[in-house]
Amino acid sequence: MSALAVLALGSNLGDREEIIRAGVRDIAALEGVELTAASGIVETPALKPDGVDTDAPAYLNAVVTVETTLDPHELLRALNGIERGHGRVRAERWGDRTLDIDIIEFGGLTLNSPDLTVPHPRAGIRAFVLAPWLQVQPDATLPALGRIDELLAATGETPSPYPAEPLP
Ligand code: ADP
Ligand code: MG
Repeated sequence: MSALAVLALGSNLGDREEIIRAGVRDIAALEGVELTAASGIVETPALKPDGVDTDAPAYLNAVVTVETTLDPHELLRALNGIERGHGRVRAERWGDRTLDIDIIEFGGLTLNSPDLTVPHPRAGIRAFVLAPWLQVQPDATLPALGRIDELLAATGETPSPYPAEPLP
């Protein structure tokens, strides 16, 4: 049994492009995970609980799809391990980070456990997730929210493409 999962990567500290690239390579190298598509990289200002923070370093973001035999919690643990490998330290919520990897969608499942909510509860309002996701799954939808192209339009935001070679 395998499932198609959608993963979002973000980095706003250090060599952001190389960290995103290495994160995608690390995901592709996981046991039980096959990389099936990767978006381009986009750049957006940092978002903090109080709103956009133009003093914080900007984010690079990308979305990949994977085919995986792991279950959602096994995948989350593996992704947390990759974050730690890139020096991620959890301090403030939504704080600056070298590498964040979120599970956006997992095989159409709906999951609400203390450490894992799928689909990711804020995916539908985050242009920096929706724009790169749209590149790899143009017809994707979010349960109860609808098509991601329409959700992206509703954000009124257009993340800037970041000039980089295709991932990984
Ligand atoms: P955020 O990604 O919201 O900025 P963190 O990366 O610090 O925050 O994650 C905080 C916690 O969110 C993680 O420890 C993880 O258990 C939980 N979490 C819940 N749902 C998800 C999901 N879909 N993908 C990744 N992490 C999730
Ligand atoms: Mg996260």
